[in-house]
Amino acid sequence: MGRLVAVSNRVGSLRGVTRAGGLAVALTEALQARRGLWFGWSGNVVESAAEHVEQQTINGVTRATVDLTTREHDDYYNGFANACLWPLFHYRLDLASFDRRFYDRYQRVNRRFAQALIPLLRDDDLIWVHDYHLLPFGEMLREAGCQQKLGFFLHIPFPVREIFTTLPMHECLVRALMAYDLVGFQTEADRQCFEDYVLREAGGTRDGDRLSAYGRTVVARAFPIGIDTEQFAAMAGSEEARRDAKRLKAAIFNRVQIIGVDRLDYTKGMPERFNAYEKLLENYPDTHGQVSFLQIAPTSRGEVAEYIHLRQELETMAGHINGRFAQLDWTPLRYINRAITRRQLAGLYRMSRIGLVTPLRDGMNLVAKEYVAAQDPNDPGVLVLSRFAGAARQMPAALIVNPYDAAGVADTLQRARHMDLGERRERHQELMQGLRENDVGQWANTFLGMLERVELDALAA
Ligand code: ADP
Repeated sequence: MGRLVAVSNRVGSLRGVTRAGGLAVALTEALQARRGLWFGWSGNVVESAAEHVEQQTINGVTRATVDLTTREHDDYYNGFANACLWPLFHYRLDLASFDRRFYDRYQRVNRRFAQALIPLLRDDDLIWVHDYHLLPFGEMLREAGCQQKLGFFLHIPFPVREIFTTLPMHECLVRALMAYDLVGFQTEADRQCFEDYVLREAGGTRDGDRLSAYGRTVVARAFPIGIDTEQFAAMAGSEEARRDAKRLKAAIFNRVQIIGVDRLDYTKGMPERFNAYEKLLENYPDTHGQVSFLQIAPTSRGEVAEYIHLRQELETMAGHINGRFAQLDWTPLRYINRAITRRQLAGLYRMSRIGLVTPLRDGMNLVAKEYVAAQDPNDPGVLVLSRFAGAARQMPAALIVNPYDAAGVADTLQRARHMDLGERRERHQELMQGLRENDVGQWANTFLGMLERVELDALAA
């Protein structure tokens, strides 16, 4: 078994995993099993870049990181990755900024990272690159002479051709993706969008799950990501989490709690969700004094204008809804703008009768899975899930909604409120079975197993 080299923009701490998500846990486990290396950005922004690679080995896994300069951070990270690729791949063309300077720096950072990694590689390494920050990373490695097997996984959606081709450098990016041996997507729909581009735009060909174009061949497959199901369920069922949940439930007078948990991001559909909640209160007066909506949304990318604007919009909406419906002893909506620990999160999910997950577009959405895993199997809550989350395809036993249809979401919330225990249990069992069969450990093993088997077609071409 070759050593695993994981490459991602952010590198996990390899130490305390209590705050880390399932991906960090799964990658750390896979890296420990193969005494691997995790390479990426240190998280530090410095005035001028040193070529130095910081290395640290913990429990047999090496963490190798490089710094970004202020300019690289502005143009590569905040610029091309988060102000161009992120909105575009989530179908927000209106927010995508096509700045050549951003793209040039994105290429340069990818090249600099690749050159920093090359001296650390061994011949039998298996290299696994993650996400949209690093689309051209594999091509840069190949240019620098890398012959190892190269896999790539895209954690966000891959857009339809009409959207993707609005990006002036669409061809360069797909050509770069073709330098990998295996390219993984969250859903079959994403994989199809990529295939559609390769066949129709790039004039390529297909043979089973192999796609060829530009003289290169890749295997393209969907590998829907999961969570650390058993660990998360155990954490939610722990004595401490149960104690937390009981205390919090008493604090809201045992009202039916609806919960939303998201990074503060325009893809998550939070203004639409607040509208839907307002519709629920408007259309179903029996909810007054009986339900409580808790939205937890820590700020992310707080220096980008759209995110600042969104935060202000949500604060205004929350104030409006509470001003309109609150009573002396009832606050209909509580909006918390900060991160909490995973254990607290697990407890909050468990005490909430409804998990409301309504992104406008989302690669997978792990919150939906965490909410289900955290439920008490004897008295589980109901997941209300947007059809535009990648998770919706794997979780048909959730109540699936269109997040743009406020009245429809309100009707579904009312249905969830009144769902009987038998139906709740049945739906929960079905969802849990899926989460157990497809957890994050299985996801990593399936991807790596396939990468190990894949032939080195890219080199042969
Ligand atoms: P994205 O990757 O776009 O942020 P996901 O739903 O796939 O969306 O993953 C979000 C992760 O961040 C989940 O593991 C979730 O538990 C975590 N998270 C989101 N909000 C908070 C919060 N307020 N406090 C702690 N963790 C959070």
